[in-house]
Amino acid sequence: MERFDVAVVGAGVAGLAAAGELRRRGLRVVVFEARDRVGGRILTYHDERVPVPIELGAEFLHGDTPETDRVLRDSGLLALDIAGEHWRAENGRVLPHRGIWTQIDRVLGLIDPEAPDLSFADFLAGRPGGRARARDRKAACHFVEGFNAADAGKLSTQSLAVGGGEAPSDSARRVGRVVSGYDRMAEWMAHRLEEDVHLEAPVSEIEWTRGEVEINLQPRADDDLPPRVSARAVIVTVPISVLKAPPEEPGGLRFRPDVPRVRQALDLLEMGTVVRLVAWFRDLPWTRPLPGLAKGKSLERLSFLHTADPAFSVWWSAYPARAPLAVAWSGGPPAAALARQGRSAIEDHALRSLADQLGVSRRRIEAAVLDLWLHPWHEDPYSRGAYSYPLVGGAEAGRRLARPVEGTLFFAGEATDTEGRNGTIEGALASGLRAARQAASALGGGG
Ligand SMILES: Cc1cc2nc3c(=O)[nH]c(=O)nc-3n(C[C@H](O)[C@H](O)[C@H](O)COP(=O)(O)OP(=O)(O)OC[C@H]3O[C@@H](n4cnc5c(N)ncnc54)[C@H](O)[C@@H]3O)c2cc1C
Repeated sequence: MERFDVAVVGAGVAGLAAAGELRRRGLRVVVFEARDRVGGRILTYHDERVPVPIELGAEFLHGDTPETDRVLRDSGLLALDIAGEHWRAENGRVLPHRGIWTQIDRVLGLIDPEAPDLSFADFLAGRPGGRARARDRKAACHFVEGFNAADAGKLSTQSLAVGGGEAPSDSARRVGRVVSGYDRMAEWMAHRLEEDVHLEAPVSEIEWTRGEVEINLQPRADDDLPPRVSARAVIVTVPISVLKAPPEEPGGLRFRPDVPRVRQALDLLEMGTVVRLVAWFRDLPWTRPLPGLAKGKSLERLSFLHTADPAFSVWWSAYPARAPLAVAWSGGPPAAALARQGRSAIEDHALRSLADQLGVSRRRIEAAVLDLWLHPWHEDPYSRGAYSYPLVGGAEAGRRLARPVEGTLFFAGEATDTEGRNGTIEGALASGLRAARQAASALGGGG
């Protein structure tokens, strides 16, 4: 049986970062990826009609992203910050939306990091900030559910208190985008690993004892790989929803023996739902005259459009690129409800909602649509949802998953980030590097 120093399960950015770091340290690595592509929850579609990448998974760089910046620099890729305007469309009234961060920060700043954990819904039900903050609480609830893809009734309030309750800095609010598409970054990371990455190689079982791991792959038709390989350690980077799935289902993984401490940590984390519809228009519906927009105003510099529809509470444009591409975003419980209805109901709801919120006819919106794209992340057996969030009592669960098991099993991936950056590319990259350092140190690998 072929023997490696470290086997890495999953070629999303966490797995690719881990494998790259191990190789740099001179260790012998193999990466098994279930899909026929690398990148995992990065999924970029390129269409020759559309001059910008069509991101169906991750799109933005959020806040300070030192690890992502380093990869972009090394790979020669360019990221641009988005400095457009936020607007609000509310059942036909269209207004500038300036104070959104202030509203959210006012509420999140009221979380006492020392208080016992509560669900975010329970925290809000205690009316922090009193009557004066009622609107801010509503805005914060919508934002948190959408952004964290989380159910406020289950989400840990303490997980939102990162930073000791202080308002985030301006750089923490920065939003950027990889100009040529996030897939270019994942492809560059994989390219450096050459033949160490095996695609269409779902791992079904990990048998382990201290210092020894056997990886079993699901049987494949075109087998150039042996069904089992051995290694001295394994880094598992699959999403938490895949770790929680029954082992006999596609993507499911069995650990022999099972690791109760890992199960306990997983019980405190949940996979959130996102529905993200990308629309390619003849021209952006809000750049033509709108009945509810004050005379002399223009939405040419719009980057984000917040709406009063909880299902699609935000749309965004490709700004600063002047391309008529827009994304309709739904996260948390409204997204879960939409996801159950299927693709055509989702498209229907998004276009109807945009028309209602802008105060224009549905025909006008439909006539402007050239194409629509969407990836059903919740139905995809290798993601089973969008990204993770901590349940009540689970603010430390990611850290617990990040602890090595007997110097042999290591966990990485966005959910295991130790700095509260779960659900992001930056968190996933950082977790892969952390797991690689842990594994290298356990194996006595170079620095
Ligand atoms: C719709 C959507 C929008 C998002 N938007 C943003 C954003 O704007 N900005 C941001 O920073 N983040 C965003 N994210 C989150 C970001 O995409 C993830 O945090 C990040 O990509 C996770 O990387 P990962 O390596 O941890 O996991 P993944 O990318 O999921 O990689 C895990 C890999 O494991 C593979 N795998 C699964 N099961 C097996 C198995 N049994 N055997 C072998 N391989 C297996 C999977 O195929 C996958 O390639 C978004 C995610 C989604 C879904």
